[in-house]
Order: sequence, then C-alpha cells, then structure tokens
Amino acid sequence: MSQPILLVALKCPQCGTPVPAQLDEVAWACATCKTGLLLDEEKGLVRHPIHFQEGLPEHLPGRPFWVAQGKVTLDRQSRNLFDKDSESARFWGERRPFFVPAWACDVDELVDAAIALLQTPPTLKDGPPAPFQPVVMPPGDMLPVADYIVVGVEALRKDQLKKLDFTLDLGEPELWILP
Ligand SMILES: [Zn+2]
Repeated sequence: MSQPILLVALKCPQCGTPVPAQLDEVAWACATCKTGLLLDEEKGLVRHPIHFQEGLPEHLPGRPFWVAQGKVTLDRQSRNLFDKDSESARFWGERRPFFVPAWACDVDELVDAAIALLQTPPTLKDGPPAPFQPVVMPPGDMLPVADYIVVGVEALRKDQLKKLDFTLDLGEPELWILP
C-alpha cells in the first residue's frame, strides 16, 4: 500500500507567516521576519540560518550554496611524471571550504561551480538579506556531491592517475547566498 501524499501548509515557526513553498524547495527566508527556514525530513519546518554574502547585487537573485569545511585524507598514486601527487598532497594538507550548489542546476554547472570555488574560495562575510534562487538541495545531499568533487579535482590534474582512495571529513553545512 502506498502512502497518500500529505500536503501541509507551511508556516514560519517564528511569526506564523505562510511559506509559499514550491515542489522540490527545501529552504526559505520568511517574507515577514526574514528567519531562515529549512524543511527537515523528520522535524518538518525548522529554523536554519541563511548567510548572505556581503555586497550581493540587488537586480539578480543570489545563488544558494551549502558550505562546509572539509578535510580530505588521500592515498593517490599516479605514474608521477609531473609530480602531481605532491601537488595534490599540498592542496589537501589543510581543511578547505567546500561549496555545493543548492539551486536547480545541471550536473556540468554544479561541478564547474563547485570546483572553481573549492580551488579559489571567496572570503565569506555576512551582509544584509537579498533575494535568492530557490533552494532545492537538502543539506544531507552535500556529502556525496562533495565526494564526487574531490574525484573531479584529482582527475583534472591530468597525470595518468592510477589509484585514488580518500576519506572526506565534512563539517556541518551552512547555507550561504553568493553572487
Ligand atoms: Zn517569519
């Protein structure tokens, strides 16, 4: 027996304003009190801070990203023609912020944006709220995507990679709106 789909009107737990939720959306800023809201699979609608990067343009909706510090520990072996193994070890020697697109984008756009921001992370600084594109990726989806991004970064070193084993220790995802 399949369960009937229950449509529940979502209301801001802070001020009671209805949340105009569209299918697939998982996070919002309350239109009235600006509280950040996340649809949790178990707990329903919960408060979840939304960070707005300083200096967002007003005419264009910002892009939502899940952002978390990640520490990669890896065992990488290539034919080592270009010493990319040590380049890789240096790159992953420190914790790095991972940025995973949370709006509805195709896989190429997602990978390109995530790799660009991993390699050249912006300095994050809280600014005032601004409009942003609908958030459709729940934070629980961040880890498998971040794993995939690590593989992508290592493949881009173009050095006849023979073996790549790694673990990614990812911190708690924060929702950031970037230009
Ligand atoms: Zn509210």
